[in-house]
Amino acid sequence: MIKIDYSRKIKQLPPYLFAEMDRLKQEGVKQGQRIISFGIGDPDLATPEPIIQALKKAADAPENHHYPSYEGLFLFRKEISQWFIKRYGVSLDPETEILSLLGSKEGIGHLPFAFIDKNDFVLVPDPGYTVYRSGTVFAGGTPYLMPLRKENGFLPDLKAIPERIKKRARLMFINYPNNPTAASAPRAFFEDVVKMAQRYHIIVAHDAAYNEMYFDNEKPFSFLEVKGARDVGIEFHSFSKTFNMTGWRVGFAAGNADILKGLGSIKNNLDSGVFQAVQYAAMEALRRYDELSAPIRKVYGSRRDLVAARMDELGWKYVKPKATFYFWVETPAGYDSRKMTMRLLQEAGIMVTPGNGFGENGEGFIRLAVTVNDDLINEAFDKIGSIRW
Ligand SMILES: *Cc1c(COP(=O)(O)O)cnc(C)c1O
Repeated sequence: MIKIDYSRKIKQLPPYLFAEMDRLKQEGVKQGQRIISFGIGDPDLATPEPIIQALKKAADAPENHHYPSYEGLFLFRKEISQWFIKRYGVSLDPETEILSLLGSKEGIGHLPFAFIDKNDFVLVPDPGYTVYRSGTVFAGGTPYLMPLRKENGFLPDLKAIPERIKKRARLMFINYPNNPTAASAPRAFFEDVVKMAQRYHIIVAHDAAYNEMYFDNEKPFSFLEVKGARDVGIEFHSFSKTFNMTGWRVGFAAGNADILKGLGSIKNNLDSGVFQAVQYAAMEALRRYDELSAPIRKVYGSRRDLVAARMDELGWKYVKPKATFYFWVETPAGYDSRKMTMRLLQEAGIMVTPGNGFGENGEGFIRLAVTVNDDLINEAFDKIGSIRW
């Protein structure tokens, strides 16, 4: 027997949040508890039928059974560029400014390998999607946490980042509409980011996973719409939330060609691209974007209104989201994130995610992912209503 010892990088990571949540849930189930989960940001609804049909058809064709190219079929990238013009008015070269991904998580996790050397800083939002931090750590970089605070609309305060950090930062992650805070960013914020990036030569990676999950017809814009953005950054897009396709593992990055080239050379060495039949299915999704994504927005929008109404009855404190399927809720007096999460689970069988699981600045909040139907939402809030805080 040899001694199995994990790398310092692995040991440096906090326990993967959702693994811990899953363990708690299993414990509850074992004790015979009925659990309603607002825990994980995975849609409960099925992928729209035409996308499934496109997959079936493409899966039959033997030419799709080979290794795909890591950058994606040219047809796929062309379809993306056409969609991008229609949706955002931004024209992208499908050859150099679009790269297919095995889900945007894959691209986000790999990006630091292309640009980060030991001791380089990466600006990471806190609370934030955990992959920004773990990708940075795996690449040997040092995350510099940018707090997202309520009083600042859950935007990072760029002026508060010390000069010496900005000078050593090579990469910055931002994400709006935001997970976990559900905040949206004004265009002026993106403009400030571009200015800072130009001044300090920082690569910007904007995670747009929730750009198509918006409500009240307030469409989020693309980072790439901002003047100068394409000189400094790329944007990650995902089919997962837009079309209920989390299991399909397909997404793309768009923007600066040199940055994409760096990411591409990492991918070239580590993966072999997205199954072509899935790329054809994703093309169908983009071609029918309006028809297929609008009903999904409608469902999440009406759930948002229901949850907001039920939380208002309880007097819970939150900002009503304009996008995403999340609610970022303040814990009541005397409760930290973990204590509120545990009480909801133990007394009502309700799973939520403790805010501090997304970073220390998430303390004092819990996150609800509204990935359950109206009946379950009502059942959950009836149960929560009987808890005396
Ligand atoms: C869900 C999510 C992703 C990952 O999406 P995939 O395309 O499924 O990998 C990326 N970023 C954020 C913020 C997310 O919530």
